[in-house]
Amino acid sequence: MIDVLNPANGQTVGQAPAMSVSEVNAAIDRTCAAFPAWSRQLAKARSDLLRRWFERIRDDKAAFAELIVKENGKCLSEAYAEVDYGLGFIEWYAEEAKRVYGDTIPSHAADSAITVVKEPVGPTAAITPWNFPFMMITRKIATALAAGCTMIIKPAEETPLTAYKLLEAAREVGIPEGVFEMVTGDPKAIGARFTSDTRIRKLSFTGSTAVGRLLASASGQTLTRMTLELGGNAPFIVFDDADLEAALEGAVGAKLRNSGQVCISPNRFYVHDAIHDRFIEALAERVSRVEVGDGMRDDFVVGPMINRAGFDKVASLVDEARAHGARIVLGGQAHAAGGLFYEPTIVSGLDDDAEMARTEIFGPVFAVYRFDTEDEVIARANATEYGLVAYAYTRDLGRSLRLSRALEAGMVILNSGSVGTASVPFGGIKQSGYGREGSYYGIEEYVDVKYVLMSGLGR
Ligand code: ADP
Repeated sequence: MIDVLNPANGQTVGQAPAMSVSEVNAAIDRTCAAFPAWSRQLAKARSDLLRRWFERIRDDKAAFAELIVKENGKCLSEAYAEVDYGLGFIEWYAEEAKRVYGDTIPSHAADSAITVVKEPVGPTAAITPWNFPFMMITRKIATALAAGCTMIIKPAEETPLTAYKLLEAAREVGIPEGVFEMVTGDPKAIGARFTSDTRIRKLSFTGSTAVGRLLASASGQTLTRMTLELGGNAPFIVFDDADLEAALEGAVGAKLRNSGQVCISPNRFYVHDAIHDRFIEALAERVSRVEVGDGMRDDFVVGPMINRAGFDKVASLVDEARAHGARIVLGGQAHAAGGLFYEPTIVSGLDDDAEMARTEIFGPVFAVYRFDTEDEVIARANATEYGLVAYAYTRDLGRSLRLSRALEAGMVILNSGSVGTASVPFGGIKQSGYGREGSYYGIEEYVDVKYVLMSGLGR
């Protein structure tokens, strides 16, 4: 069994099975065997099942939210927000299942007709991370099921309990075995099974760029298509014409969500020279008021890092910055609460060579850089191998347009710190991966286009 620990106090929350190879193989077999019948179901029937799953979870939100807090460490209000966010995908794709439209194309010959239909790609697999134990799963499986695919999921070892609870709710409303399968155990072995089995036609992965590259190269042998949502290094640019209050609110909300353990978390704050000092002072004032602690307290608190490795990474990035002469404006050390809690931290005076300018921090650390001109900050914002999201605050319309075009990211967010909702295409470019999740674009990842020529129809 895999022990699941509460990162806030180290206590065991529960256990998940460490499945053997033969158990994993049997689950893959069920996923493949269920595909023909599931894909032939009327779209309305698939839609109704997703809707029932949505309603079943909606009626039991508190139990899901509390479990998320216990295995992930985020605070209860954020866990509720995650449940709502994740439910949004089930609701959205329950509706979208009925709208997988095709095309007709004017034919090149008089006695023929051309149609284009979209068919489900087949049995699919997914591997998900621990930072959104609920939403990462619903975002993938709701899309797959709506399209007519079956799916087998391997959730993160840190947070498998929410995943199994989602599966249980799915079974209760009649989503059958095989259509939705779940496996836990050795991630490397399971990933290798997913990528080597040619019956599995698609793998959706959210996690680190390093693991994404491993899976993508293994998939090269089987030509398994992929959706990859990988690491980020988001710039958050504040121009001197910005609404400063709004920028501060956006900065704090986006950075401290899930204690900074989010792939779209702002990693580099670029603040214009003219407002830099004022921004830092106001930011410090706000962040110093934020409480740190066990997420079961209902109000907003910054929770622990997920595990020791996550904590050590944050601590060493801050130590490296300090050693290179950066100014620690706030925090900069382990929190007095002990364990895996790290103080919300503000670091300034950094240059672009700092380790934390190149690395995804994944912790509650605001790294603030100065800039002078628009061209300069665009170049610096883009000087990263990643391209998931870029944020900017400005009230200049022309500049907004220029930024939306120039920033190299799958998502450009202007004058807001909030990115995700079911109706938008979430995803990155460059080393942040490819493919999109959410919106009507998301379902395209789970369908094949089939061109049908009907000829000899008479004139
Ligand atoms: P993180 O640092 O956020 O945990 P990972 O990429 O290590 O990011 O983990 C994301 C998911 O990928 C988890 O479900 C994890 O179990 C899985 N994973 C880790 N290593 C491998 C691997 N070699 N093959 C397949 N999946 C893996």
